[in-house]
Amino acid sequence: MAEILYSSTRGDKTKVTASQAILRGLAADGGLFVPDHIPHLEKSLSEISKMDYKDTAYEVMKLLLSDYTEEELRYCIDHAYDSKFDTEEMAPMTEAGGAYYLELYHGKTIAFKDMALSILPYLMTTAAKKNNIKNEIVILTATSGDTGKAALAGFADVPGTRIVVFYPKHGVSPIQERQMVTQEGDNTCVVGIEGNFDDAQTGVKKIFTDPAFAKELDEKGFQFSSANSINIGRLVPQIVYYVYSYTRLLKEGRIAEGDEINVVVPTGNFGNILAAYYAGKMGIPIKTFICASNSNKVLYDFFGTGTYDKNRDFVVTSSPSMDILISSNLERLIYHIAGDDASVDAAYMKKLSEEGKYEITPAMREKLSCFYGGYATEDETKEAIRILFDNTGYLIDTHTAVASSVYSKYVKDTNDKTVTVIASTASPYKFTRSVMEALSQGDDSVDDFVLADRLCKVSGVEIPEAVTSIRDAKIRHDKVVEKDALADAVREFLFK
Ligand SMILES: *Cc1c(COP(=O)(O)O)cnc(C)c1O
Repeated sequence: MAEILYSSTRGDKTKVTASQAILRGLAADGGLFVPDHIPHLEKSLSEISKMDYKDTAYEVMKLLLSDYTEEELRYCIDHAYDSKFDTEEMAPMTEAGGAYYLELYHGKTIAFKDMALSILPYLMTTAAKKNNIKNEIVILTATSGDTGKAALAGFADVPGTRIVVFYPKHGVSPIQERQMVTQEGDNTCVVGIEGNFDDAQTGVKKIFTDPAFAKELDEKGFQFSSANSINIGRLVPQIVYYVYSYTRLLKEGRIAEGDEINVVVPTGNFGNILAAYYAGKMGIPIKTFICASNSNKVLYDFFGTGTYDKNRDFVVTSSPSMDILISSNLERLIYHIAGDDASVDAAYMKKLSEEGKYEITPAMREKLSCFYGGYATEDETKEAIRILFDNTGYLIDTHTAVASSVYSKYVKDTNDKTVTVIASTASPYKFTRSVMEALSQGDDSVDDFVLADRLCKVSGVEIPEAVTSIRDAKIRHDKVVEKDALADAVREFLFK
């Protein structure tokens, strides 16, 4: 098997192994690590259809993480995909309203980020061992809500690691905040900041790129790494469930081997849909990648016009995990459609940081013909939840509803009847208030837990353990700092 090496999308020629790329997170020139080629699946799709989730994961991940031994990779997979998930299938599919909903929210924090963040800690500690890193790995994360909790749950009590999460004190939902501040594990630290998500992100980046701080840390036996979705260690595990959904459809006789499918992905940072694109390159027959945005429709405009333009107002929506104007992982797609040319990508990214926009060439646009961009307004999102529930009894969250709404538009637009998989990215109980409002059962006078009880009565869907367990859980983190005091908060936690 040929070894896959990774290098930067922006031109730094250093080639690193997969485990080194996972440890570093980001390339030294600020680019993202990309594989030197995307390997094809070795076994046929019908052979893979006989495998369970874990064996499928091994079949896919061994190709892209080629410097991990079989023993190492199987150890990571076995420890990640266990009883932390409330279903043995890990990613079950439900047919409703003419599409297959691939439920990616059965992990500990009831959002799809668990699919990757439950394995990343094992990939990272294994990578540290393989590369003779003696330091403790310190994961620094800024979160707008979902990533923080999923990373905390993944890294809690993992030997050899610490994790510090910064969140905007006044910018997350009550359930999201409670999920984070009740986090157990001696190696975890959660800090609210007086500022918004951008302040948190900027503060964290500043710490990351401060060589003096890195040196100070190294002397005390620590080094930073990142659990953000730009880490290749998050992208690779996400490819698995697209392979798995195809082979499930095959196994159940819904499609024949080689038939094409469509995928619809509610998109923010472009990580999840990029994983689908990689699955396509590895041999999954995917006809159209339907990219669904909420009112922050930068990507819809990009696919329609070839211009990426972040110069616009940021809209706060009921699908907050998609409220994003800079979709970081799009950089990998730009690099690929430029013919794996880092100089082209670097020029666009420079334009993006200086002018807030760039326009790709007609030749590059042609390579995007397999993408379809759509968006849903707030009203359309609510309507999608209500209609699907009224017609089928199937309940989806606000993010999935954006995808569902865009899919309806796509079918109207194209009359394409291809079998379609919709990535269902969060449990409706993670966004209970918005879901209840969509069902015309909103009530400002009660808290989210009372609403969850009511949603359970209305829908018959059991309240997940992730919600019931935080209801009366002890608050373990109550630190709040000014937005310029992040570094001191990190010092206090690590050196105390
Ligand atoms: C993070 C997230 C998304 C967006 O995924 P990207 O990989 O950032 O495009 C969509 N839905 C939910 C629930 C999320 O948490």
